[in-house]
Amino acid sequence: MKYCASDLSEILLSAEQIDQRVGELAAEITADYSDQEIMIVGVLTGSFVFLADLLRQIDRPCVVDFLAAYSYGTGTNSSGEIRVERDLRVSVVDKDVLVVEDIVDTGLTLSRLIAMLQERGAASVKVCCLLDKPARREVSVQLDYVGFQIPDRFVVGYGLDYDQHYRNLPCVAVLKADKYLTRSTVE
Ligand code: 5GP
Repeated sequence: MKYCASDLSEILLSAEQIDQRVGELAAEITADYSDQEIMIVGVLTGSFVFLADLLRQIDRPCVVDFLAAYSYGTGTNSSGEIRVERDLRVSVVDKDVLVVEDIVDTGLTLSRLIAMLQERGAASVKVCCLLDKPARREVSVQLDYVGFQIPDRFVVGYGLDYDQHYRNLPCVAVLKADKYLTRSTVE
């Protein structure tokens, strides 16, 4: 992508690296779920590109739904609140749920989301995330399938945004610090 090359300080993961790893994750998931139907829950918005690529390589029956949720509350307690901005349309009761997330940072959103899905009666809840930033973890959360562990940098691309931009980059890249400052002061 030429249009924003000067906004990026480093390409962390190329499109080819991502493509290969997504294939490996899909193969693991296909093997682990044997003949079970998988209910894939995509966490909006950042997961949509990853989910679309992953889904097409999972060779099992799948149901797909999306939700948008944010964690809030103080402290590092994983039992804090979760605000669901867009809820699932399909029931999770007795389903084998696979949550697909773009990136796990503090882990707060995901830990609260997992608890919510379990409370709603899912038969099982597993997690597949493209990126894991362990340096910033505040609560422990089990990640069943991880694409890549990355350092504590703010990344964009392959569905991840800054201020709703850069989601269409085919790679995962680090945004230059001055881009944060420019946008947040101008907009
Ligand atoms: P947490 O794990 O802290 O509850 O939240 C994870 C969410 O924070 C992700 O779904 C994503 O929206 C956002 N996030 C965390 N780190 C990054 C990053 O490096 N880049 C982008 N674009 N979003 C991030």
